[in-house]
Amino acid sequence: MEYISTRGSAPALDFEDVTLAGLASDGGLYLPIEWPRFPAEEIAAMRGLSYPELATRVMLPFVGESLSENELRNLCGQAYGRFAHVAVTPLVQLDAQHWLLELFHGPTLAFKDVALQLLGLLFETFLTRRQQQLTIVGATSGDTGSAAIDAVAGRDNIDIFMLHPEGRISDVQRCQMTTVNAPNVHNIAIAGSFDDAQAMVKRMFVDEALTSRFRIGAVNSINWARLMAQIVYYFAAALQLGAPDRRVAFSVPTGNFGDVFAGYVAARMGLPIERLVVATNVNDILHRALSQNDYSAGKVTPTSAPSMDIQVSSNFERLLFDCGDRDGVALAQQMKGFDAEKALKLTERQLGGAAELFTSCRADESEMAQAMRWASENCGQILDPHTAIGLHAARMQDCPAEVPIVTLATAHPAKFRDPVERATGFRPSLPARVGDLFARQERCTSLPGHYETVRDFIADNATPSN
Ligand SMILES: *Cc1c(COP(=O)(O)O)cnc(C)c1O
Repeated sequence: MEYISTRGSAPALDFEDVTLAGLASDGGLYLPIEWPRFPAEEIAAMRGLSYPELATRVMLPFVGESLSENELRNLCGQAYGRFAHVAVTPLVQLDAQHWLLELFHGPTLAFKDVALQLLGLLFETFLTRRQQQLTIVGATSGDTGSAAIDAVAGRDNIDIFMLHPEGRISDVQRCQMTTVNAPNVHNIAIAGSFDDAQAMVKRMFVDEALTSRFRIGAVNSINWARLMAQIVYYFAAALQLGAPDRRVAFSVPTGNFGDVFAGYVAARMGLPIERLVVATNVNDILHRALSQNDYSAGKVTPTSAPSMDIQVSSNFERLLFDCGDRDGVALAQQMKGFDAEKALKLTERQLGGAAELFTSCRADESEMAQAMRWASENCGQILDPHTAIGLHAARMQDCPAEVPIVTLATAHPAKFRDPVERATGFRPSLPARVGDLFARQERCTSLPGHYETVRDFIADNATPSN
């Protein structure tokens, strides 16, 4: 399988190179040159497979020559063996129409583990094969950082530098990153918002001062392999609910548009998805884009769902590309306009393409809390704030009664104990697998939101590539 950039001028790469690359050299994001498609019989034949086996089948077309089927199967077995539930991503029924897809049974309690546990192993496989060193730089609104650090801590060929917005992540999220004691792990707290941190990281991928000395890798959802691994659970859930003979809708708490874009890819691969609901909090750029054609970035408002406190959703570019006839030259222009104006309008084709599958909904703090209380009182389920936003959006849909609506439960409620307790009166406790998080020593460097300072810190502390 070949991968091409959304901005049309970076070289095409194979799966191995695209996994190790971050942003494309033209500033775009990589996508497969075409979507593999499963006929309905092939999807039906996936019923009843274990999660690692399903993952192998769904991802195999994307890895091309970079891994044999057995190598991929081995990596999936290892990655998903670290989950605390045998189903890896179990489905829980809420009422006649609503379901939760629990994606938080990995080591760091959020859905990011599903992709990052595999990505860590892919990095190790490819780097060992090439005898190369990788410097991962990432920005996190909390959950990517902890999942990525868990996935690569202690690995020989990798240094990881993780930027988070100082004071804007939960205490559990912070400690999951800063208490990992491994020499290759570097936490950086940045004065500023997640968008500021993400903008710095994007700049590093095209900064010669770094790229000439280091191979810079990405663990954010700009990395294609992450999205690829997330496609699998859409298949897992839909198959359990009757696919391919029955259509299923999904409601996805959305920040960087990675998770919901994986659902879009599942649909392009032939999975009969009725609709994908993009659920946002008051940082609603995606809701405005899809409902009013207003993709304009405002200021980030901190909420109790910090992983969605994002104004610029990187992966939206992938949708604009795919729905815009894959015209990289035109998209490069459109994105240049966005960089200058902090706003863009979708073309008729982009809007029409998106509308075939996507709808959107925004929840404020009180709607989020109400959804949390509804699930607690009516279904005995304690939800985290992100999941509650997804459930609110799901319950606002007018899907026919025979279409199940699956809300992606993206984090364990214990990761966000304070807002959960405020809404429900119940303080969820941390599962035993995270251990004595608050008793451990924290390690973190605070830096100003100044690009060169952060870049130089990384250059001084990373191992040069060979
Ligand atoms: C990352 C995250 C999201 C948003 O996912 P995107 O892929 O960025 O859209 C939602 N909920 C939680 C708990 C997350 O960690």
